[in-house]
Amino acid sequence: MNLILDGHSYKYELESLANMFFHGNRVRVTQEKDFSGEDWIYTGVFPAEGGKLRLEVSTQMDAKRRAETFVGDPAGKDKDRFCEYHLCRMLYLQLVEATGLSLAWGMLTGVRPVRLIYRYRERGMDDRQIREHLHRDYFVSQEKIDLLLRTADKEQQILSLSRPESFSLYLSIPFCPSRCNYCSFVSHSIERAKKLIPDYVDLLIQEIAYVAPMVKTLGLRLETVYFGGGTPTALTSEQLEQIIRAVAAHFDLSCLREYTVEAGRPDTITRQKLDMLKQNGVTRISINPQTMNDDVLRQIGRRHTAAQTVEAFALARQAGHDNINMDLIAGLTGDDLESFCRTIDQIIALGPENITLHTLSVKRSSRLGQQEKAFYQQEHQKVSDMLSYAGKQFWQNGYQPYYLYRQKNTMENLENVGYCQAGREGYYNVYIMDETHSIIALGAGGVSKLRQPGGSLLHRIFNYKYPYEYISRFDSVLERKKEILRFYQQP
Ligand code: SF4
Repeated sequence: MNLILDGHSYKYELESLANMFFHGNRVRVTQEKDFSGEDWIYTGVFPAEGGKLRLEVSTQMDAKRRAETFVGDPAGKDKDRFCEYHLCRMLYLQLVEATGLSLAWGMLTGVRPVRLIYRYRERGMDDRQIREHLHRDYFVSQEKIDLLLRTADKEQQILSLSRPESFSLYLSIPFCPSRCNYCSFVSHSIERAKKLIPDYVDLLIQEIAYVAPMVKTLGLRLETVYFGGGTPTALTSEQLEQIIRAVAAHFDLSCLREYTVEAGRPDTITRQKLDMLKQNGVTRISINPQTMNDDVLRQIGRRHTAAQTVEAFALARQAGHDNINMDLIAGLTGDDLESFCRTIDQIIALGPENITLHTLSVKRSSRLGQQEKAFYQQEHQKVSDMLSYAGKQFWQNGYQPYYLYRQKNTMENLENVGYCQAGREGYYNVYIMDETHSIIALGAGGVSKLRQPGGSLLHRIFNYKYPYEYISRFDSVLERKKEILRFYQQP
């Protein structure tokens, strides 16, 4: 579908907005007046009398045309924001009507909507005014506004703990027992990558030893350590312990607030590994069921059962782990509302300290007939109902949202939310999402994000994505890490 820009270049917001309705049907942005397809969107900005602007939006969908014009005076306002807002507003209303979808996030497209709350509060708006503004001017549902305000309250407390010299450490273990069919990470199945693992472990330890002195020279303060991937517990207990010991040997852990290891897949968890993690000072683990429905687990390619999740959880408790996160997904292939609600109830009954709820997007095909449109609306409604049910149950059972981000380029950009019991927030999750302080990432696929202390400058350092590249080009991995010193020492 063509999205035509005429007399302006407000591509980003308009394209993001259109993509929330038409994910799967790539919107093609053009400055040519190309009305050749069956469906199109036209947006125009033109000067009008007395310094005013005339903004036009028209859409054609399912052979029906809609059009609206707005004439307004941008004097005293940020002209770009003025134009973007009014174009998006007109487009949003037309797309709601044309598709029959009303989006819970309204016309907000950003990945971090919580930031808006901070911005409004800085401007002196109280919660009542924020509610009114988001609902009236951006069409955000009351449910999402509640979620935003609650998340902002919690998140702000965590952000305030970070100092200019703070940083977090991420270690990537990009191996899993098998590959889930929805996976968007670079992760190799253990069977395929077995031969690579000993070298990978050795080199990761070398990278740890290389970077730690830099951090010491710069006087940085380590706040959180996070082992992710992949599934770190896909390694043997001995391999994982080697890496954990290297972190302890080379970095100063005296200020650490949190040490997380994603145990991830229940089929990788053993009592030996759980004891080893506990003995080595790991304070938080993640056991990720995704769903408690065995049929759905089979369909998504996870080779474990719900019973194994319960067993792994019990084992972790026996080993003394008192801060456990569990990841769940709404919208998995084959899952329905009833089964999803059962999953939520079962997980709440287990009582983990953290529950992270992710959303999978509902893919939409390029052109929908009436029947497909109805099916799509149903699916969309199902995922929205799943999120509503989970949000309510979590809240009623003492879980509060503490971090939230939306997924770009998915249907409606639905959200992922971290919930926790009081005082059990996962700090690393907040810091990485907010880009509060530097994250130094080691291992294949690691992307370090350096944040200027007290400033807003961000610099990324990319490690090679795949383990075999990381291993074969390790010298240049270390070479790139010198950018840490250069970044912090620049005038
Ligand atoms: S466990 Fe996670 S990282 Fe591994 S394949 Fe599944 S989704 Fe991907």
